[in-house]
Amino acid sequence: MEKATRQHTKDHNRALVLKTIFANNQISRAEIARITKLTRTTVSNIVADIIAEGLVHEAGIGTSYGGKNPILLSLVEDSRWMIGLDLSHNQFRGAIVNLRGAMRDVITIPMDGHDGEDALKLLYQIVDQLVNKVNHPLLGIGVGAPGLVNTQEGIIINAVNLDWKNLPLTQLLQDRYHIPVSVLNDSQAAAIGEKTFGAGYSGEESMVLINVRHGIGAGIVINGTLYQGDGGCAGEIGHIVVVQEGGELCRCGNHGCLETVASAQALIRKARKGVKDFPDSILPHDPALIDLKEIEKAFAANDPFVRDIVLDTSKYIGMVISDIVSVLNIQKIILVGDMTCFGEPWLNAIHESMLTHSLQKPLLNTKVEIGKTGENSIILGATAMLVNNYSLLFSH
Ligand SMILES: [Zn+2]
Repeated sequence: MEKATRQHTKDHNRALVLKTIFANNQISRAEIARITKLTRTTVSNIVADIIAEGLVHEAGIGTSYGGKNPILLSLVEDSRWMIGLDLSHNQFRGAIVNLRGAMRDVITIPMDGHDGEDALKLLYQIVDQLVNKVNHPLLGIGVGAPGLVNTQEGIIINAVNLDWKNLPLTQLLQDRYHIPVSVLNDSQAAAIGEKTFGAGYSGEESMVLINVRHGIGAGIVINGTLYQGDGGCAGEIGHIVVVQEGGELCRCGNHGCLETVASAQALIRKARKGVKDFPDSILPHDPALIDLKEIEKAFAANDPFVRDIVLDTSKYIGMVISDIVSVLNIQKIILVGDMTCFGEPWLNAIHESMLTHSLQKPLLNTKVEIGKTGENSIILGATAMLVNNYSLLFSH
C-alpha cells in the first residue's frame, strides 16, 4: 500500500472510532469493534493513541456477558475547547464550548447600532476576552452570522443589519488568532447545532431546520451532513415569493417574500398597523409600544385579533415547508427562533397548512417540532462544525 493511502485508511479508522465514542456516553473496546466492524487489535491501537492525546479515558467497568468485565471508555469532554459566536441578534454573544456542547463561559455585548468596521471591532473584543479565559487546548472559532454567507470560503456576502458586504470573515479571524475558523449562516449553524447537540437525533438522519425570527432561513441536513449548496448559500427560504399579487416590498427588492408575511418583524408590523381597528384588543393602543413580548402576552390571553395574525403566519410557513418536503421527502422539520414562543398552536397551524397545500402522501410521516437547543443553537452549531472535523482534535 502506498504511504498516502495507508495514512488515509488510518485517519478514516480513527474518525470511525471517535465518532462511535462521541455517540456513546461510555463504551467498551469490544463494542466499538462490533459497531465499526474494525478488528479488536485495530481498535485497541487507535484507542491507545486517543488516550495518549487525552481525548478519551477509561471511565468504568461494564457488565460482562461471559469472560472478563470490559473497561468502559468515555470522552474527556473538556480536553478541547472551542469558541462559538452568534452574531444574529441585536447583541453579539460568544461562548467557550466543550466537546459535548457544554458552555464554560458566555460573554454578551450589545450592538447599540454599531455596524461595519465598528461591529467587527466588537467581534474582536469578544473573541479577545474569551481567548484570555481559555486554559485548555483551543480547537478553533466557529461563527454563526446573519444574512447571505458563502460558507465554503467564509465570506459574508451581505448582512444588511451589520452593514457587511463581501467581508472575508474566516480569513480575518484566522490572520488575527492563527487557529481554524468556520463561518456559517445562522440557520445552517442552528441546524447542525440541533443535529449534533439537540437530544434524540441519530447520526445519519436528514432534517430541515427552519429559523423564524426577524428574518427566515433554513438549514438542511442530508444523511447527517449539512447541505451547503454549490455556492454555500442553501436554505435561503425567506425570499421565496408566497404572495403573488400585491405583496409587500421585501428588503431584498422583491414583493411578497415569505419574510414579509411570516417573520417576527412582519408580525409586529401587522399588529402595529391593525391594532387601531380592534379597540378590544389587550395590545397596547400606542403602536410604538407593541413588540413581540406584548404580542406573546396577548396570544397567551387568547386575544382574537392577535390569534388571527399569529396563526396567519403559520399558513405561509406551512406552504413553504410542504414545498420543501415535496422536493426532498425529509421527514423531520425542526423550528427554532423567536416565533417559537407561540408554541403548540402555531406549530399545529403550520402542520395543518402543510397538509392542505401539497400531496398528502410525502407529508404523512413528516414530524414538525420545536428545536431543543433553544437560544444556544447557533453558538453550538458554529462550534459543531469544528468538532465534526475530527482531524482538528489531533493538532495539539
Ligand atoms: Zn425578499
